Amino acid sequence: MSGAYDAIIIGGGLLGSAIGFGLARQGLGCVILDEGDTAYRAARGNFGLVWVQSKGIGKPVYADWTMGSAELWPGFAQELTERTGIDISYYAPGGIEICLSEAEFDERAQKMASLTGHQNGRFSHQMLDRKAMMERLPGLGPDVVGGSFSPHDGHVGPLFLMRAMQRAFVDLDGVIRTDSRVHAIKRDGDGFSVETPGGTVTGGKVVLAAGLGNKALAPMVNLDQPVYPLKGQVLVTERMAPFLDMPTTHARQTGEGTILIGSSQEDVGFDLSSGPEVIKRIADRARRCFPVLSKARIVRTWAALRVMTPDGIPIYDQSETMPGAFAASCHSGVTLAATHAMTFAKYVADGHLGSELDGLSAGRFDV
Ligand SMILES: Cc1cc2nc3c(=O)[nH]c(=O)nc-3n(C[C@H](O)[C@H](O)[C@H](O)COP(=O)(O)OP(=O)(O)OC[C@H]3O[C@@H](n4cnc5c(N)ncnc54)[C@H](O)[C@@H]3O)c2cc1C
Repeated sequence: MSGAYDAIIIGGGLLGSAIGFGLARQGLGCVILDEGDTAYRAARGNFGLVWVQSKGIGKPVYADWTMGSAELWPGFAQELTERTGIDISYYAPGGIEICLSEAEFDERAQKMASLTGHQNGRFSHQMLDRKAMMERLPGLGPDVVGGSFSPHDGHVGPLFLMRAMQRAFVDLDGVIRTDSRVHAIKRDGDGFSVETPGGTVTGGKVVLAAGLGNKALAPMVNLDQPVYPLKGQVLVTERMAPFLDMPTTHARQTGEGTILIGSSQEDVGFDLSSGPEVIKRIADRARRCFPVLSKARIVRTWAALRVMTPDGIPIYDQSETMPGAFAASCHSGVTLAATHAMTFAKYVADGHLGSELDGLSAGRFDV
C-alpha cells in the first residue's frame, strides 16, 4: 500500500459515501474526508427519486448507465438493510410524470419514444390518458390530462440511504473524518498525499467526490470537473393518510406519510435562500395534480444546490498524468448510488474505468 490507506475519498455526500462503501466491501482500507456542515451538500436536500424515465434523452450512454443502476437497486437496498438494519424506505412501484396540458402530454410522449430506442431494449414505458391515470392515482385533479408511466422508477429515503451507506462503510473498517476540507492534493511516490486542516493523509488512490467542490480540486490532479450549482426548492407537508402509491416527479409520499413537493430549477449561483414566489409556484402545481394537498400544512421548505455539468450528464474520469486519481460528478446521486457502489467502485479498485463510461469523460467538452 502506498500511504496509510488504499484509497482516500474526498467528499462524504451521496457519491463519496456510495463509492467509499463500494471500495470497503471489496476489502480496501479507505478514509472519507468531508468538509462538514458549512459545505454545500445536495445529498442532504434532495427529492429521493430513483428515476429512469427522462434520464439520458438524446444521450444513450447516460440512459444505459441510469438503467443499469436501477437494475442494481433492489439488491443494493437489500444488502444495505441486511448489513446495517437500517430501513432505507426503498420502494420501486414505478413512477409517473404528470401532464397538465395537451402540449405537455405531446412533448412527453415524444421524449419517451426517443428513450425507448436506448438501453438495449430494456426501457419500457406507457403514455397514460386521464382515465388510465385515474386507475393508478385516484386522487388526481381535474386539470390532469395524462402522463407517462415507467415501471423502472422508484424512491428512497435519501437521509436513511446516506446513513446506511456510511454505517456499512464504518462497519467495514472505513474511517470518516469530518471537518476535513481538502485544500491540496499531491503526488507522493506511487500514491497521493492530501492536505486538510487536521493534517496530511496519504493513500494509494484518491477519488474526488466532493460535489461542487470538485471544480476546485480537479486541477490538482490534472482533471477538469466543470460543475456549477442549480438551485432546487422543496416543500414537505405534515403526515397524511396514504393516498399516493407511486412517486411522481412533483410529489411523493414518504414512508412516514409526509408529502415531498418539488422541486424548482434555478440558475442563481450559490444562493441557498428559499422564497415565497417559487414555493407558491411549486405548491400550486402540486395542488392542481392532487387537490387533497390544498388542505395540507407545509411544515418545512428548503433549498439545496444540484451539482450540474454543462450538458446535464455525469462526468467520470481517471487522470492520465496522475493515474490512481479519479473524479465523479453528477446530479442524480440517489438514482446512481447503486452503480456508484457496485460498478464505479470496482473500476476504481481495478484502476481502469469501464468502456461504458467512455462517453462520460470531461474530454467531451474539449473543442
Ligand atoms: C433539490 C434537489 C433535488 C434532487 N433530487 C434528486 C432525486 O430525486 N434523485 C436523484 O438521483 N438526485 C437528486 N438530486 C441530486 C443529488 O442530491 C446529487 O446528485 C447528489 O447529492 C450529489 O452528491 P455529491 O456527493 O456529489 O455532492 P454533495 O451531496 O453536495 O456532497 C459533496 C460533499 O463533499 C464535501 N466537500 C466539498 N468540498 C470538499 C473539500 N474540498 N474537501 C472535503 N470535502 C468536501 C461536502 O462537505 C459534501 O458533503 C437532487 C438535488 C437537489 C438539490
